[in-house]
Amino acid sequence: MSVSPAPAVLKELTTALGAGRVSADPGLLEAKAHDRSYHSWQPPLAVVQPRSTQEVAETMRICHEHKVPVVPRGSGTGLEGGANTSADSICLDLSAMTQILHIAADDLYATVEAGVMKSQLNAALAAHRLQFPAGPGVDASVGGMAATSASGTMAVRYGTLKENVLALTVVLADGSVIRTGSTAKKSSSGYDLTHLFVGSEGTLGVITEATVTLHPVPEANKSGVWSLPSLQNAVELVVAALRSSLRLTRVELLDDLTVDALRKYNGYTAPVTETLMVEFSGSAAEVEAQYAQFAELAAHYDAAEHLQATEPDECQQLWQARHDVLPATVALIPGAAPLATDVCVPISKLPECILQTKADLESVDLLAPIVGHVGDGNFHLAMLLPPGDDAAATKAKEINARLVDRALAMGGTCTGEHGVGIGKIGPMRTEHATALEAMRAVKAALDPAGLLNPGKVLG
Ligand SMILES: Cc1cc2nc3c(=O)[nH]c(=O)nc-3n(C[C@H](O)[C@H](O)[C@H](O)COP(=O)(O)OP(=O)(O)OC[C@H]3O[C@@H](n4cnc5c(N)ncnc54)[C@H](O)[C@@H]3O)c2cc1C
Repeated sequence: MSVSPAPAVLKELTTALGAGRVSADPGLLEAKAHDRSYHSWQPPLAVVQPRSTQEVAETMRICHEHKVPVVPRGSGTGLEGGANTSADSICLDLSAMTQILHIAADDLYATVEAGVMKSQLNAALAAHRLQFPAGPGVDASVGGMAATSASGTMAVRYGTLKENVLALTVVLADGSVIRTGSTAKKSSSGYDLTHLFVGSEGTLGVITEATVTLHPVPEANKSGVWSLPSLQNAVELVVAALRSSLRLTRVELLDDLTVDALRKYNGYTAPVTETLMVEFSGSAAEVEAQYAQFAELAAHYDAAEHLQATEPDECQQLWQARHDVLPATVALIPGAAPLATDVCVPISKLPECILQTKADLESVDLLAPIVGHVGDGNFHLAMLLPPGDDAAATKAKEINARLVDRALAMGGTCTGEHGVGIGKIGPMRTEHATALEAMRAVKAALDPAGLLNPGKVLG
């Protein structure tokens, strides 16, 4: 008869880290057992809340010795179940590691602990007239953003986390600590382990510190909301803008259903039709010139300007409305859980991909607003699953499977930014058929006992 390792491992963790760092409080176990997705979860054995790389290393060493699985967790905003725990695992909650270790204003980088939130970093950078614009609109931890290779509305200008992480401190499965990358702007030295860990979703190591690139806060911004007669026109306008000398800071697509949801949720006033939200940044003169050039281009695609903003407060308010899309969508059906899709295709294929998906949706009775980081070819359906409606969940999964097949056939990917987690394991395997064995070999080399976030990414 095998003996459960639970009491022994908890005792040893408590002795090593102190009682305040290890908890089996049922409320905390439940709160930290899942992210914001619809995927299933079980409360873990315990939640461990380290305060330093050394404490993470100790935790990993002890769990490795006892063969207990570890699920790293940042702020739990993931949408694919990446941080969801199983009953035999430990939740390694990095949210108490919140020190900003160094801001190198002249070298345009900062080194922070994994639990530092994007908002916290940007608040500290404001005094230097610098910003960390990569990552989602929702507030998330730097460790979690790096682990999912997150991006968001500003990726079209500043790139994703992949382009904005220079170096990492990582604790490996056996508790050893490594440092990858450097603070140099570029390097040809050795294998690029930094970008192996970025996007590895806690399956290869635990990120405890990250060095990220910073960008100057622009002197001025100008934002606008434009209504278009069709999706085709909207995407063609974006393609034309990207191929011109315009430098878009943000360009977001909202379909008619999304606009309708926002109007009901936060008083958004744009007409209910296909909509583009754009932003340009730079000096005041540059911004005016770029916006005027965009307006000239927009006229060729029958776009009508609904609103423009230049004052910081107005711009902030306007983009907050965009960041409200998920809660606004969920509010359409009280209690509904969103199944969020995340394909990304070459931008010229975007209209075809969205239109075929809309046609597919007509065969089912599901409310599914569409929103897209259109400048990157990345869009999301938020398919609303009414509480307890298993048939709706089945239909939504079938729609998602066909959408992924469509995107892969177009040369795209099953996930542009949310990651694989639990939800995209099958599509990820299809997408990387010839590289899968190499991925398994990397996992086996770094985590031979399979203790780091098991059941995620590779399955
Ligand atoms: C309303 C809303 C809007 C969103 N919009 C976007 C968007 O525009 N773009 C986007 O990319 N995402 C978006 N997301 C998803 C989510 O915010 C991102 O995936 C984010 O990067 C997750 O960060 P987190 O700290 O919450 O990570 P968690 O959810 O805690 O974890 C995510 C994954 O990373 C792993 N992990 C976390 N921390 C570490 C660490 N320190 N070391 C190793 N592994 C770790 C976890 O095990 C898990 O696999 C959105 C989510 C919501 C709820």
